[in-house]
Amino acid sequence: MDNCIFCKIARGEIPSKKVYEDADVFAFHDINPQAPVHFMMIPKRHIATLADATMDDAGVLGKILALSARLAREQGLPDGYRTIINTGRIGRQEVMHVHVHILGGPEPLGRMMPRPGA
Ligand code: AMP
Ligand code: ZN
Repeated sequence: MDNCIFCKIARGEIPSKKVYEDADVFAFHDINPQAPVHFMMIPKRHIATLADATMDDAGVLGKILALSARLAREQGLPDGYRTIINTGRIGRQEVMHVHVHILGGPEPLGRMMPRPGA
């Protein structure tokens, strides 16, 4: 996709703080981190949103999840992390190229959703 910012990052046409790259996955730090460690993992092939994914995308999406623990460890997160995929308007997705946010730090993150009674 010519005008997609994350396609351009994956092709090296826009600079990023790269975390990892292979034939089909690219990972880079978020420009506006929401946690002490915050990077994103993307398929190099353009998929606009998770809702647009098909079975043809299962391999690369599975690879991203399977790789996430290793990259998180390498970024200083040995003890867990949070994965977020914002999807579409309701999910408040801003960049229309599927990305998995990986967030963490030395202390547990804030709760995403309140628990009943909490
Ligand atoms: P989302 O709201 O899930 O679509 O998240 C998009 C994320 O991309 C945000 O956290 C932005 O800070 C991040 N972002 C936007 N442009 C860049 C960029 N050029 N380099 C790194 N991260 C970016
Ligand atoms: Zn793209």
